[in-house]
Amino acid sequence: MSFRQPLDREQPEGGRLLFAQPCRFVKGAAKASQAPDSDMPEIAFAGRSNVGKSSLINALVSRHTLARASRSPGRTREINFFALSDRLMLADLPGYGYARAPRSEIERWTAQVEAYLTPRPPLVRVMLLIDARRGIKGRDAPVLGLLDATATPYLIVLTKCDKVKKTDLAALIGGIEDGFPGHPACYPAIAATSSRKGTGIAELRAHIAMLASD
Ligand code: GDP
Repeated sequence: MSFRQPLDREQPEGGRLLFAQPCRFVKGAAKASQAPDSDMPEIAFAGRSNVGKSSLINALVSRHTLARASRSPGRTREINFFALSDRLMLADLPGYGYARAPRSEIERWTAQVEAYLTPRPPLVRVMLLIDARRGIKGRDAPVLGLLDATATPYLIVLTKCDKVKKTDLAALIGGIEDGFPGHPACYPAIAATSSRKGTGIAELRAHIAMLASD
């Protein structure tokens, strides 16, 4: 069996229908223990600060202000939960690894995310966002390690693909795919997206829709 499979084999119609449903802000959780009780499958979005996480969430749900609702002061350090219809919970994790962030802040993020991940049965997939211009960098590596160690399934989602040449993007994707065997919890396909151009958004919606409840 090949490790590599394109994300776009999945059915776009389910994604379109799911993401046409209303999406509402549920709550911000400063501590993992404040995460809402829910029996909906949950998808979390993680990535470095400035990776394009709010732009991607907004592109997915087609609401220009949704992720911003969670951006009021104080909220950016929280895990923000959104319910998509009553079929899926979206969890927007605080951005990590801000270049000027002190080590203590990175440690706090890791502890918060670790606490969130530890017993979180509804969590079916983490979307791990990686800036296509940078690739997987030092600050991402511990996050991959954490997800692999906790057997939390994750999908690598490249952002800002409009900013890189096709050949560079292909090389980046090839390099990440070569690393799949060392990352047991990583889904064996990569989502290449651009929120600005809309690239890869339909495929990502379709992938997420497969994980939603009926
Ligand atoms: P967050 O901090 O991860 O939530 O990142 P934002 O969504 O706020 O985006 C950070 C910056 O990247 C902003 O200046 C966005 O305009 C820019 N950005 C986000 N997505 C894209 C994209 O697909 N293409 C390009 N070229 N820029 C993007």
